[in-house]
Amino acid sequence: AVLTQSYLDQIERTKDLNIYVNVFGEEALQRAADLDKKYAENPESVGKLFGMVVSIKDVICYKDHEVTAASKMLKGFKSLFSSTAVQRLIDEDAIIIGSTNCDEFAMGSSNENSAYGPTKNADNPDYIPGGSSGGAAVSVQAKTCLVALGSDTGGSVRQPAAFCNVIGMKPTYGRISRHGLIAYASSFDQIGLVGHTVEDMALVLEVISGADDYDSTVSQKDVPAYSAAIDSEKKIKIGVIESFFDHPKMNPEIREKSKEMLKALENKGYELVPISFENIDYLVPSYYVLTTAEASTNLSRFDGVKFGHRSQNISDLESLYRFSRTEGFGIEVKRRIMLGAFVLSSGYYDAYFEKAQKIRKIVKDEINGLFSKVDVIALPTSMDYPWKIGDANQDPVSIYLSDVFTVIANLCGIPALSFPLEKGADNVSSGIQLLSNSFEEQHLFNLSA
Ligand code: GLN
Repeated sequence: AVLTQSYLDQIERTKDLNIYVNVFGEEALQRAADLDKKYAENPESVGKLFGMVVSIKDVICYKDHEVTAASKMLKGFKSLFSSTAVQRLIDEDAIIIGSTNCDEFAMGSSNENSAYGPTKNADNPDYIPGGSSGGAAVSVQAKTCLVALGSDTGGSVRQPAAFCNVIGMKPTYGRISRHGLIAYASSFDQIGLVGHTVEDMALVLEVISGADDYDSTVSQKDVPAYSAAIDSEKKIKIGVIESFFDHPKMNPEIREKSKEMLKALENKGYELVPISFENIDYLVPSYYVLTTAEASTNLSRFDGVKFGHRSQNISDLESLYRFSRTEGFGIEVKRRIMLGAFVLSSGYYDAYFEKAQKIRKIVKDEINGLFSKVDVIALPTSMDYPWKIGDANQDPVSIYLSDVFTVIANLCGIPALSFPLEKGADNVSSGIQLLSNSFEEQHLFNLSA
């Protein structure tokens, strides 16, 4: 209870950063007191995450708590059930402290697309924290909780973690149930974790992963005891995509710090293998065709009838749909629904959607080929440091392009982890990214440790 109170005090002190949408303060304290009692009665009876304070992104359902996807569309909506991930945290005696701010429906890279306004980077509040799980990353960065659950469709956990000087990881597609995660692009979405240490994150991952009757895409594979198996000395083969680090648009300071980090690994006895990746120009276009297509169908349920805000200005059924969606969704979400509906429409389906699916397969094959030579692939998390809040707002395409290094893992469904590099100018940071083959999360934990 003392620990939970100290996190709540820290939430109060960092209010200006706009990290939380809802803080479940009283309830968290009550739960902490109950858990203390349980421990006092029998220390053996408490769960694996006894007393661990966790935040959840505002796209993850927690029974009887508001969940809004940072959208006016869902303002006031209370979840009727808990997501599998949250239920498993609770079953192991973790404490959910609140829901964190994010880009609306997890669409964005800066947290500036939220109906609640942007979250600020705790290391320098003039800067974005990254997105879409910006609130999740800052909740850990600002020490308002130990671990945060976010979601990662194209980098939303790894990029903000890099910008906020913490660790972010997205497991294999199907490792964690998506039951109770508000869908953006279902064949890409995965719950991800933000933390200060891989030990904490490995422990949480093994609790929330694994088979679930509510999600048919979740893997039936056994969940390894990641945390007990962490071996920081295990020498694995690291493939380095040099052309990415040497990309002309790469910030030279990040390039330099990444190379120092890789050099240090080599000095420690790791084998570094230069590898190449050809299809870089097709990553962002195929990602944005496929995810907007999936989003346009996933978001059709928010129509003022089945779910979501209902306009008061209506005269018939069509105006109900039209005005409810016009009023409820923000500009970026509308842009993506229109783009998605366009690439799925007859006459354009073959030219865009089908082509993007083919590219996805080609990218997967290329990455698979690389994993026959190496255990882990190292690449940058982002080309650049975070930008100042408001600076990039007018240009969605350049923001989309900034996702180039993170979308690979989601196109392929493989695990990925971003590890912070030394801070840059203005006290903000970036990271280096590690990919492993499907269900080889342990490599990422070992190497990061
Ligand atoms: N920035 C990417 C997008 O806007 C990734 C978002 C995410 O992973 N949720 O789609």
